Amino acid sequence: LFARPCTFMKGSVKLDQLPPMEGLEIAFAGRSNAGKSSLLNALTYRKTLAKVSNTPGRTQEINFFDLDGALKLVDLPGYGFAQAPEAKVKAWTRLIRSYLAGRANLARIFVMIDSRHGLKTADTEILDELDKAAVSYQIVLTKTDQLRPAELDARRETVLQQLSRRPAAYPEIVATSSRTGDGIPALRASIVRLMTE
Ligand code: GDP
Repeated sequence: LFARPCTFMKGSVKLDQLPPMEGLEIAFAGRSNAGKSSLLNALTYRKTLAKVSNTPGRTQEINFFDLDGALKLVDLPGYGFAQAPEAKVKAWTRLIRSYLAGRANLARIFVMIDSRHGLKTADTEILDELDKAAVSYQIVLTKTDQLRPAELDARRETVLQQLSRRPAAYPEIVATSSRTGDGIPALRASIVRLMTE
């Protein structure tokens, strides 16, 4: 599935520009620099899929990709810039809220968390939004090649505990490294399970 042609559909900056709710959709979110683009590329066996969307100036767009008519991949703009002006944060929140509101074909949001850092304030704020919107989400730990196995286990445990009281959290974490490919098959399997449910 993931090696099949994946084409850029469109980038949306406004609610009225979102593509129609057709077919199954999954979305990817994360703090900027969490490793989202690298993961999207690894997931789809591509080198530059997500780069399309990450050219400066287009970062506040929601980018839609069509995976051979079978699935839509949605690349949400990164959040949590260290020095983002308040207006930009507000614009991000508004855009995400309008996307989430009643997006009936959205099966799940995968939230990328840098395994070295765990959940930061910006992440918990996003998870609050997702819980409020009752949108199912699953945590994907990234850059696991940077941790020793014991450190990764500890990180997993901590994050699982932090998720335990969150109503929309999927109670399973996928630990990945785009660099080594660890966990990428597990992530693909999670997505395929969603499609066959
Ligand atoms: P994005 O801003 O979330 O899209 O993050 P990028 O995919 O652009 O990655 C941010 C930085 O993290 C880049 O310097 C990447 O090379 C690095 N990075 C991404 N994935 C991995 C990984 O699996 N392992 C390591 N060690 N570095 C990674």
